[in-house]
This record gives sequence, structure tokens and C-alpha cells, in this order.
Amino acid sequence: MNLVFASNNAHKLAEVREIMPAGINVLSLKDIGFESEIEETGSTLAENSLIKAKAVYDWLLVNGRLVIDGVFADDTGLEIDALNGEPGVYTARWAELETGVHLPEMETYAANRAKALRELADKVDRGCQFKTVITLIRCTEVGIEGQKRIQVEGVVRGVMTEEERGTSGFGYDAIFKPEGYDKTFGELPSEVKNNISHRARALEELVKVLEC
Ligand code: IMP
Repeated sequence: MNLVFASNNAHKLAEVREIMPAGINVLSLKDIGFESEIEETGSTLAENSLIKAKAVYDWLLVNGRLVIDGVFADDTGLEIDALNGEPGVYTARWAELETGVHLPEMETYAANRAKALRELADKVDRGCQFKTVITLIRCTEVGIEGQKRIQVEGVVRGVMTEEERGTSGFGYDAIFKPEGYDKTFGELPSEVKNNISHRARALEELVKVLEC
């Protein structure tokens, strides 16, 4: 089975490829020649995940590449209990929303982590979760009307640490300690993160749907 992963994020792509079982070939946007930026204009993770999958599906329709079995997209949010679920849908641009300054990827991640630590500096409750919503659009039916859309989600609970720990992963990984572990996703080996993460859990649900 050939599925396109509608993301320009190389870290997410690497994780998805590590998590997906043999038999599901994950193609990147680069593999299919899709070069546009997709604007995430939705107000929920579910909407943004659908916007990304649909943009690539529509492009495949025009470019006559429906030999592919489906397109899926991941939208992920960090939801912090003491901040009423913030930054949620704004997770990727949290620091930028405050400063108005757009930075390169790794600097954006660092600025977002610094903001999270600042926002939680005086909070006792450091509970939080990552949530991933995946939208799959199957390409087995021809045409927009016939397309089948499926959404699944995965959640991992944990706590925000008080300082950065570890250099593995990406985004907020160095300050997120999953429930039941003493180490952050930044310290844990990728096999562990990719077994218990929000993304792994959402992909597990996706695979169940694909097997039906
Ligand atoms: P989006 O799903 O592309 O909107 O990305 C949301 C943001 O969440 C990313 O830019 C990262 O900062 C963060 N993020 C997404 N997945 C993870 C993860 O697995 N670990 C840590 N941070 C993540």
C-alpha cells in the first residue's frame, strides 16, 4: 500500500516511517513532487489536519496521480492543563504569536520551549498532553464526492519539566516527560518515543482502519 504523508516536517516524516508497519510504504511530499506550502488556517487540530490532507489530495487529482492508495496528514498540539489547554492549535507558532518574529525551524522550537518554561514558571500543576489528529483521505474512490475521509487521534499524557533535558526528537520533546517515565522524550531513545507517543497512538488507530 502506498500512502502519501502530507507534511514538510522531516522529523514527523522520520517518525511516521519508523512507526508504520512493513507493507505500508510512506511517500513524502518530495517523493510526489508537491512543492507548495500549505497554510494551516483551521481553528482546531482536526480542521488543520483535514486542510493538509485535502490540499495534497486535490493536487493529486489534478496531477493524475491517483495510483496512490491514500493521503494522510498529522496535526499535533501541546495542551497544558494549567493554561486551559494552550497552546493547542497554536503549538507550532506559540512564541511567534507573542514576538511577531518568524525564525528558522530549530530556533522556533527553542523559542517555543523557552516560552513554555516561562509560562509555567510559577505553576505547581505541570500536567499536559500531546494530541495528534490524523486525517486519511483514501484514493480508492475517484473524485471529490467519492472520497472517503477518516480521522483518528492519539494522546500521550505527561508533565513539563523545569528545564530542558536531552537532545533527541524535536519541538517540545526536551521538556516533555511522558507518564510512567523518568526521562523526557528528548532523553528517551526514539524506539521508546515511537512506541508510546501521541503520533504512535494515532498511527496505531490509522493502521486498524486500513486493515478493515
Ligand atoms: P503541526 O502539527 O505541524 O502544526 O506542528 C505542531 C508543533 O508541535 C510542531 O511545530 C512542534 O513544535 C510540536 N510537535 C509536534 N509533534 C511533536 C512531537 O512529537 N514532539 C514535540 N513537539 C512536537
